[in-house]
Amino acid sequence: MRVYKELGFGVDDIANWLREKYGVKCQSNHPLGGLVNTSPLAAKAGLGWQGHNGLLITPKFGQRQRIAPIFIQDKIFQFTDNSEHKWLEQFCKNCRKCEKNCPTGAIYSEKKISIENVSGIEQTRTCIDRTKCYPYFNRTLGCSVCVKVCPFSKGETQYNKLKQIYIIYNKGIYASES
Ligand code: SF4
Ligand code: SF4
Repeated sequence: MRVYKELGFGVDDIANWLREKYGVKCQSNHPLGGLVNTSPLAAKAGLGWQGHNGLLITPKFGQRQRIAPIFIQDKIFQFTDNSEHKWLEQFCKNCRKCEKNCPTGAIYSEKKISIENVSGIEQTRTCIDRTKCYPYFNRTLGCSVCVKVCPFSKGETQYNKLKQIYIIYNKGIYASES
């Protein structure tokens, strides 16, 4: 909650600075809620990849970070569509520690459709059953068992180590198939 609060103030400060100093028309989004799912957006921007439980995994912090975007009216940066961390998708398929350890069984084996017929994007999908996660999350003042058990929560050294193992393992598969 402290991080949510500090990041909320921080993202407002940055948006104000962009408006005052550069005249950028923009709107900050508090990290606790909002209109968009920020994990896939952050992945497209090259920060990391969305993990099996829906949270972003980054090399430095694993799932231990919050995200707060700033939406800008005019295109002042080039769009990015980065897949550098896509290997995490396959890693998650073989890991599933978050799903196995979730005390409420809230993490789906496969993403489920949460809303149909959204104008422009047709449907949205979700990784967790909020009716199971949220009440428990509130009762325990922030459960986060899924974050704790994620192997990437141990920091950047662990990220690099697992990436190396993943690459070697997949080369092995490739070699045995060819
Ligand atoms: S926060 Fe707790 S209850 Fe919610 S998905 Fe993670 S492990 Fe499950
Ligand atoms: S615990 Fe495993 S499956 Fe879940 S997000 Fe982390 S790496 Fe992916």
